[in-house]
Amino acid sequence: MERGVPPHIAAGRLDRALQAFAGVVGKDWVLTSDEDRSTYLDVYALGSGEEHLPSAAVAPASAEEVQAIMRLANEHRVPLWPISRGKNFGYGGAAPRTLGAVVLDLGRMKRILEVNERFGYCLVEPGVGFFDLYEHLQSNNIPLWLSVPGNAWGSVTGNALERGFGPSPYGDHASRICGLEVVLPSGELVRTGMGAMSNNPTWPLFRYGYGPSWDGLFQQSNLGVVTKMGLWLMPEPEATLGLSIELPNADDIGWALDELCPLRMSGVLQQSPNIGNYLRSAAGRSQRSDWYSGPGAIPDSVIKDIQKAYNCGWWSIGLRLYGHPEVNEVNARLIQAAFAKHTDQPFKITRWHKGEPFAASGAGIPSVFPLQIVNWQGGRGGHIGFSPVLPPSGDHALGQLHRAQKIVREHGFDFYGSFTVNDRYINHVNMLFYNRDDAEMVGRVRQALKVLIADTAAAGYGEYRAHIDFMDEVADSFDFNDHAQRRLNETLKDALDPNGILAPGKQGVWPKAYRGSRA
Ligand code: ADP
Repeated sequence: MERGVPPHIAAGRLDRALQAFAGVVGKDWVLTSDEDRSTYLDVYALGSGEEHLPSAAVAPASAEEVQAIMRLANEHRVPLWPISRGKNFGYGGAAPRTLGAVVLDLGRMKRILEVNERFGYCLVEPGVGFFDLYEHLQSNNIPLWLSVPGNAWGSVTGNALERGFGPSPYGDHASRICGLEVVLPSGELVRTGMGAMSNNPTWPLFRYGYGPSWDGLFQQSNLGVVTKMGLWLMPEPEATLGLSIELPNADDIGWALDELCPLRMSGVLQQSPNIGNYLRSAAGRSQRSDWYSGPGAIPDSVIKDIQKAYNCGWWSIGLRLYGHPEVNEVNARLIQAAFAKHTDQPFKITRWHKGEPFAASGAGIPSVFPLQIVNWQGGRGGHIGFSPVLPPSGDHALGQLHRAQKIVREHGFDFYGSFTVNDRYINHVNMLFYNRDDAEMVGRVRQALKVLIADTAAAGYGEYRAHIDFMDEVADSFDFNDHAQRRLNETLKDALDPNGILAPGKQGVWPKAYRGSRA
């Protein structure tokens, strides 16, 4: 296996850096074998993924060790790619943006430092996974609920920093971050917000601190390595009430969103429901070849077969109300009345009260089951996300849906689409499924993604997150005033990381030394 030496540095220099890292973390935690390095490749890469092969990984056990490694990386000019648990699937997994970067694996730093029941927050290290925090809350009978994303294999910190989400009232994870501890590229340790004052108990409670507010600058960012994160957790509600409904036609999503978005904005609905299409139902439980073996996207007749077999709609809508049972009942009636204007179909209703079996509560329970969808095409399966953000309106959603679906189908893929309704926006996550080892199919995925990004930008929308292979294309689409935001990002990057050692190219932000190669 090629070693993959980072650009701009000589191989001897890399070896000296790795030796120096071993002096900090111990030689067992500098990982250089082929087997070790390949575990950091993207398991859903488009093809082999070896263009993102790291030269090594280093796994510190403390913030002090992260500081020491950062200083050494500067000295030796070796790029680092931080990961928490490296399960950023659909967006690159653990793999670095640039060939030969050293993965800074924070998975050993997995202490749950504090869970404050009274004030509803936790303070965690980056290696703490959703499963770890969930088990901690459950086994200690702490009445705080976690919001979990669809794939809950990753870390609480990595997911929130990447602006992941789940379907709970606390589902916009980045919006619940409160207070970070960060190692800057210089090796300096800072705490943001009220944490900038020693021993201030409002660090995880008041976000802004005094003066400029920095939490946002370390999200989807290459300006620092987060070593502690405060995150708000939801107090256990008295009761929950679930409403589900299946809508038979693709365009039903227009009126459904026009009803749901105002209810979400006014607070009748406090969570961000995730609405998925028939392919989510099918890909979780079957493979494409079970339904269809012809060329191109599955035809409408097969879509109907799927709907019939799984008793699902073109769209499946699952909503949940959280709070006092009387309030939930009133809000449920408002939602039912809104939908009754368009359909005679009733909602299926489920109810849960505090003390009843937890599994029926609608609380965030971590699972990796949704990853099953990658087997849709057969072979070594993968998926890639394409996730534009839209205004909360049926018109915008239908316009984007029609254009994106056409592009996806024209490239021969089945359309997977979902809408997550937030208070002021809709997150429209689409996925393409492929067999990684089918070069022709992988070529079509790449082409489809390029067309989707350009077409969506032409319609005026941008993505909230991007796979490492498409970070530059998405960054390019943020073009106001001849890419003024890119210049701002680069100014900050050069000021804080003059040697360009931290995650070069992340989110399309390149340090000075690399900018020529981007051009
Ligand atoms: P997860 O832990 O959820 O699996 P990853 O470890 O794959 O998430 O992280 C996703 C991305 O988020 C990484 O590629 C990196 O860019 C960024 N990231 C993750 N953890 C940190 C951190 N502690 N500090 C800075 N950036 C981070």
